[in-house]
Amino acid sequence: MDNTLRRIDIIKILMEYVKDELIISNIGFPSKELHHIKDRNENFYMLGSMGLCSSIGLGLALNTDKKVISIDGDGSVLMNLGTLSTIGHTKPNNFILLIVDNSAYGSTGNQKTHTNNTELDKIAKSCGLHTIKTKNEKELRDALTKALKENKTTVIVAKAKAYNEKTKNIKIPPVVIKYRFMNSVNG
Ligand SMILES: [Mg+2]
Repeated sequence: MDNTLRRIDIIKILMEYVKDELIISNIGFPSKELHHIKDRNENFYMLGSMGLCSSIGLGLALNTDKKVISIDGDGSVLMNLGTLSTIGHTKPNNFILLIVDNSAYGSTGNQKTHTNNTELDKIAKSCGLHTIKTKNEKELRDALTKALKENKTTVIVAKAKAYNEKTKNIKIPPVVIKYRFMNSVNG
């Protein structure tokens, strides 16, 4: 039986554990699916800058005491691989990089990426990062529980199957997304 999770399942599970953590979600379906599951002031929906979700999350984590979670994708991390080296070098104690690895550029039509043979968890590990690879719901729940409890940067590579939930576009004006998020960072 194929019990590989979809991105929407992974984000739903994540949101069961999230309290007041700040979330940066990648442009496209990660943001749309997060918005669909649970809209909140602490969500920063990226509307541009593909590839930079992890970098924005890192920059934020280095400038706040709050816990920051980046919901990124394999395609996005592949186009900004240097990010893992930078995260490994800086390692704030309040950052979780959740890479939903569905081996596809989901938001542009599920074209294949190269994560069938490029193992992002191994790259993250070799950058000195505490890394957990998950292949099913139980492993993901265990990883999230641990990562949210611990005070260290954790990279979770959550293997997924390519699927995009049919969600509406986010209608919140970008400036509102920005200001309500800034308020929750400072509040
Ligand atoms: Mg992907």
